[in-house]
Amino acid sequence: MGHIVVLPPLMINKIAAGEVIERPASVVKELLENSIDAAATRIDLDIADGGVKLIRCTDDGAGMDADDLQLAFCQHATSKLPTEEDLFAIRTMGFRGEALASVGSIAQVRVRSRTPDAEGGHELAVAGGAFEPIRAIGCPVGTTVEVRNLFFNTPARRKFLKTTTTEVGHVVEQFARVALAYPAVHMTLVHNGTMLHELLPATDRRERIGDFFGSELADALLPVEMHDQTSSLTGLIAPPSHARSSRKWQYVFVNGRYVRDRLILHALRESYRGLLDQNRQPVAFLFLAMDPASVDVNVHPTKIEVRFADSSRIHSLVLSAVRGKLLSSDLAPSLADALGLDSPAAATPPRDIEEADRQHAVRQAMADFFKELPPIQGRFQFPKKVRSSEFVVRSKGGRTPSAMPPPPAFPNYEPRTTNYELAPQGRVMQIHNTYLVVEEEDAIVLIDQHALHERILYEQIRGRIADGTLESQRMLIPEPVDVTAAELALLEDCRPVLAKLGIEVTRFSPTSVAIQAFPSVLTKRSPAPFLRDFLDTVAAREQPPAAEDLLEELLAVTACHAAVKAGDPLTPEEITDLLARADELDTSQSCPHGRPTALRLKLTDLEKQFHRT
Ligand code: ADP
Ligand code: MG
Repeated sequence: MGHIVVLPPLMINKIAAGEVIERPASVVKELLENSIDAAATRIDLDIADGGVKLIRCTDDGAGMDADDLQLAFCQHATSKLPTEEDLFAIRTMGFRGEALASVGSIAQVRVRSRTPDAEGGHELAVAGGAFEPIRAIGCPVGTTVEVRNLFFNTPARRKFLKTTTTEVGHVVEQFARVALAYPAVHMTLVHNGTMLHELLPATDRRERIGDFFGSELADALLPVEMHDQTSSLTGLIAPPSHARSSRKWQYVFVNGRYVRDRLILHALRESYRGLLDQNRQPVAFLFLAMDPASVDVNVHPTKIEVRFADSSRIHSLVLSAVRGKLLSSDLAPSLADALGLDSPAAATPPRDIEEADRQHAVRQAMADFFKELPPIQGRFQFPKKVRSSEFVVRSKGGRTPSAMPPPPAFPNYEPRTTNYELAPQGRVMQIHNTYLVVEEEDAIVLIDQHALHERILYEQIRGRIADGTLESQRMLIPEPVDVTAAELALLEDCRPVLAKLGIEVTRFSPTSVAIQAFPSVLTKRSPAPFLRDFLDTVAAREQPPAAEDLLEELLAVTACHAAVKAGDPLTPEEITDLLARADELDTSQSCPHGRPTALRLKLTDLEKQFHRT
């Protein structure tokens, strides 16, 4: 007796829903795309409780008549694929005809719709896959889809939902993707009665980008445009100075559809080669248009991945457009920044980007070389017991070694009270404005100055929070920072933790906040980039972190920002003080991000390498 059964349609729909509908934002995506496919010029999205309780999408598009309305909720019912060939040249956002059927199986759905030439409209209600009879009603032309109590009959899915803040963040993201691709459509987004976005029809994408990401970024963007025989690329890219620490700000659209395409993202990254630090990510909004027959969008359930018929051509189109723009733009100040060329000798920016590339490659090679060395095992011991006069420092720029000056003047520190001494004959020098090389009796120690300082500050700030001695400064002029609606909500959640670090942020406008107070250790760095990095870090997490984790994250970002950077030239006093403080460190040798701070080369190993033994 066989065990194979054919699944009933409701179960099939629920399974399909699991594939496509992960959270409220997935429904939002499908509804917005349907409205776009219906050629709407206005879309109003209204959600409650992160979309779990209600998602209502109203458009003024083509609408559906009674027959279509009934069919719309049947699996594989679509008006978008009249012929089989059409599957290989998709011009619409939807085409599989499974979204409404899936939503209808896991929520309570009500649709009202009217076509332009009809006298009146119709309404259909579906809950958990069960239909009520269609009835005639009066309604405006277009369609309203109302989805209530998502996952009411699939509690297992409901369990996976995150906080309202997180779900709203995802909804805003989906809304933004459609709004950026279709600037001519008037769009609004309301959550629990509050208007999060009101987007008037725009002729320029820059305007929409400003709506979501702030005018500071929007104004800085450089336009790119390039065509080849079959495709065209238009877009806006940020200069390197506006790079972020996450890849989230890389928006790529193919024929109006948001995609995450590794090939295009790679081309983008390549375009900024030599212009960005390793851990910074370009910010860009790229819109590709091509014959639908030359791109397969049917390779992923939510259509976020695509396959190009000629991928290398697309890669070089993006690379040459973006790279070309960057090469021809005056990026001098930010270039110097990105390369850490802020010492007097290197104050003049490199003559051209080729030169910048070369310098970057050299730095990269150095960094890679050090990375490949095995980290020191066990706790990193800094040398002890040298008399200070024997401690010799050679700093960058060919300055001659100087005797150790009086202690300690390292920024952001209070003077140490304990005496510090270094190992006999211990010498130290800074190389590439990035590493310290310390001579020990039986070894050479290479220290990453940023990682070490970061580690020290991390411990120090943590200690000060614990004993309540961390100082905060009130800003004379509050610093404004552009934020998205989702970030604003996130900041609200983070307020108590931020307060622990003496950071006070108040709401300034619907798209910006003002930093009112800030910890003293950070004043050297500007508060705005700090706050952005913190938001990026927290937003990048799937789940909002618990309070302690959040504090850890905030500490890590704070330490990273307050620490000297790779590329900062250090004075002999600063080096001395840094090493002295390292000596007090009581934890492992990793910086808060888990990178090692120091590597030790034992002389005996070196001797082996040089065949001295
Ligand atoms: P698909 O979009 O893949 O065709 P859906 O399940 O999302 O599948 O929608 C099924 C059908 O319902 C669509 O093909 C379209 O004909 C109709 N439809 C859905 N939403 C709308 C809308 N907002 N306006 C007009 N027609 C719609
Ligand atoms: Mg659809």
